[in-house]
Amino acid sequence: MNNRYQVAIIGGGPAGLTAGLYCSRSRFSTLLIERGIVGGQITNSERVENYPGFPEGIPGIRLGQLIHEQAAGYGLETLSAEVIRAVPAAKHNLIATSEGDYAAESIIIASGAQYRKLGVPGEDDLTGKGVSYCATCDGPLFKGKAVAVVGGGDAAVTEALYLSKFASSVKVIHRRSELRASRIVQERAMSEPGIEFVWDSVVTRIEGEGIVRQLVLKSTKDGRISVLEVAGVFVAVGSEPNSAQWRGLLPLDEGGYIITNELMETSIPGVFAAGDVRHNSARQVITAAGDGATAAVSAARFLSF
Ligand code: NAP
Repeated sequence: MNNRYQVAIIGGGPAGLTAGLYCSRSRFSTLLIERGIVGGQITNSERVENYPGFPEGIPGIRLGQLIHEQAAGYGLETLSAEVIRAVPAAKHNLIATSEGDYAAESIIIASGAQYRKLGVPGEDDLTGKGVSYCATCDGPLFKGKAVAVVGGGDAAVTEALYLSKFASSVKVIHRRSELRASRIVQERAMSEPGIEFVWDSVVTRIEGEGIVRQLVLKSTKDGRISVLEVAGVFVAVGSEPNSAQWRGLLPLDEGGYIITNELMETSIPGVFAAGDVRHNSARQVITAAGDGATAAVSAARFLSF
């Protein structure tokens, strides 16, 4: 493996993988750096049903593998490492990783986002002991048990649907009385007898000795406190961008997402951002892939001048 590339891509989700496919197919020497497994957040999706071309849906992990395979076929190189620091420079940007230093003429940041925490007592201590952020990963452990899901978006409701296959009961705890999730997903959850909704409520504590036993809930309407006995709680309250290392280097929005124009250009020439890490991303697999393609076309233009 070299340590000098024309393009370095940080992150191997749909945005980074698609950028990698486009850059390597355009014959640019391209390195994709991923700290986990390729595929990014979709590796947590049992089935992606809204990526065009797969009428039966496709397991998220498989979709990631297929795009990676396609890109590798055109020469994309992949490094399994954590990016520690990036130092933009006029000609060769430096990327320091846990596996050594790399230089690249252009960088595409596709580092995505990660799960947001509730930030309540008990959450950290009981993570892995009943508190989970991934139903696909941990759902089968709760066969025949009562579980809760926190959140009202697509992630929360699709996780509840998945969990209803294993758990004895699934309670979706949402802070409002209206879901944010798309209509089709809502309809499915509403007609699933194993799923109940606990409206206008937030979790204030997660309790249990060494393992989750109960949640303390507070009504957002009248402040009333109640207790819900569960063996597991799945937190699905959105995500936060993996952009910390760009703070002070690139303009970020108030949520920490990287601001780009429609060509995926950041304020630094040759540095692009794509996918969920980017301000105003639709946070869909297909839009992340589209961002990745756009960033790659822009990088190609940058490298050609
Ligand atoms: P999201 O759409 O931002 O929803 C987050 C949910 O968590 C909202 O209902 C929000 O409540 C709630 N929430 C946020 N902070 C909270 C807190 N501290 N305490 C309690 N509740 C809190 O996030 P997401 O569900 O992870 O989805 C992210 C994106 O991915 C979306 O664009 C979604 O459509 C997409 N997605 C798609 C699929 C699919 O199958 N197509 C699956 C998963 C995700 P409020 O509603 O009150 O703000």
